[in-house]
Amino acid sequence: MRTLCATVLAACIVAALSPALEAEDELSILSDAMDFAMHDATFTMYHEIGHMLISELGLPVLGREEDAVDALATVWLLTDDSDPDSYNALIDAADGWYFNAVDSTGSGVDDFSYYSDHSLDIQRAYAMVCLMVGKDADAFGDTADAYEIDADQQEACSYTYEQARSSWEMLLEPHTDDEYYGAPIKIVYEDAGEYAKFAEEFEGRGIMEHAAELVMENYVLPQTVTFRATQCGEANAFFDPSESEVIYCYELAEYMYYMYLYDIMGWGESSD
Ligand SMILES: [Zn+2]
Repeated sequence: MRTLCATVLAACIVAALSPALEAEDELSILSDAMDFAMHDATFTMYHEIGHMLISELGLPVLGREEDAVDALATVWLLTDDSDPDSYNALIDAADGWYFNAVDSTGSGVDDFSYYSDHSLDIQRAYAMVCLMVGKDADAFGDTADAYEIDADQQEACSYTYEQARSSWEMLLEPHTDDEYYGAPIKIVYEDAGEYAKFAEEFEGRGIMEHAAELVMENYVLPQTVTFRATQCGEANAFFDPSESEVIYCYELAEYMYYMYLYDIMGWGESSD
């Protein structure tokens, strides 16, 4: 718990101080949990949009596609001046991968080694934080320290960031056009059933609308693409190439919400 508290410091202090939380604190933690889930949703949308662009634009991919689209999503959020919350979204999304890794390996956080091959998720978190500190050392220095990325590595990360940014820019350049809009992006919200509170937040924050605007303003899509939020029966998100659809599952928002409460805030550990 120690290292990650640096990124959710205020919340960690609240958790440590009082087992019986005041109602007001509890509300504020629930609201932080929702922010965490929505920040992950933002990153997840950009990640899936990366898969969509590779498929729809027929882009070549060197190396693992998962890593490539993580880098693209991170670069987008690092350079999106129209979203004041994009830096927080990155920190929470990286923490999400980190705690996913902790969950899947069963390792305690304290003896968790960032550099061994525990799981892909921890590498995803590490790669994201490297790009983040590589772009903006002032904003993400503390996060990189919390992830135990040493000073030399942090400096090398600025090269990693620049390489990722310029590689993607070069790949996408032939598909940009300042004058001409390509095919539109359709946005669909399906019935959310028991996930209504997550769907309301997801729609209210305009996460899919903002992402769609970014894509349509910058890149020329050859055919209509749909962004669909729906119930999937699992906590996930996909790009479906046969339907040209990016799909965000409401279950994923719920999963991340409870990850924040139980794995990061430690709720339910000492009570009952
Ligand atoms: Zn993926």
